[in-house]
Amino acid sequence: MILKITDLNVFHGPIHAIKKVNLHVKEGEIVAIIGANGAGKTTLLNTIAGLKKKTDGEILYQGEPLPEKSHEVLKKGIALCPEGRRVFGNLTVYENLIMGGYLMKYKKDFEKEVEAVYHLFPRLHERRNQIASTLSGGEQQMLAIGRALMSKPRLFLLDEPSLGLAPLLVQEIFNKFIEINQMGVSILIVEQNAKHALMLSSRAYVLQTGNVIKEGPSKNLLNDPQIQEAYLGKR
Ligand code: ATP
Repeated sequence: MILKITDLNVFHGPIHAIKKVNLHVKEGEIVAIIGANGAGKTTLLNTIAGLKKKTDGEILYQGEPLPEKSHEVLKKGIALCPEGRRVFGNLTVYENLIMGGYLMKYKKDFEKEVEAVYHLFPRLHERRNQIASTLSGGEQQMLAIGRALMSKPRLFLLDEPSLGLAPLLVQEIFNKFIEINQMGVSILIVEQNAKHALMLSSRAYVLQTGNVIKEGPSKNLLNDPQIQEAYLGKR
């Protein structure tokens, strides 16, 4: 088990955003969390990543309690690719990747990782000297993913990676997640785009106003009439 969350509660002031959530990710798995706007998906990922403090509950990573500071969580091997990409707009593609690798000790390793990112996203190699703010939305998403990979995570947290991307590009980027997973990286992905997320993942949780209302193998959820109606636009 790479991640095990038990009875997690998180508040934003008076708002109870995560309510007694239980969730786990096994080593090598791709797990999805689907849910509408405001369901608490971002809060959940930010709490795991150490960007938001939990109120109570337990988060175990490889059997041990997670540190609460975000840079320590990153050092442990958990990287977050945040919602809305948030690349450093005034830096080049290469410089953004450097920022992602700042915890790596040896330059030799670092250049190897940059090459691995370029191999995964040849477009980033073509654009390596371009200022990030001038990249297309899809390229910025590739860069945000590449930057997170620079820390060589064991667990990759993805917040709404399909947001604002054309359908073809969503497919292309989701195919990269399969490649990343095949390199041995476990993935926890949060998505409003339930169809893509369920097709990518092996298991999924449905979050509604802070509660897990359903969980199971993704293929079962894809065929669940209630999920189809509420999240997949079918009646
Ligand atoms: P979205 O897809 O719109 O990002 P989400 O599922 O990620 O939604 P969260 O952003 O985690 O949901 O929000 C969960 C709840 O917590 C919402 O009611 C939201 O208004 C509230 N919330 C989130 N961030 C804050 C904050 N910084 N201060 C106060 N309330 C917040």
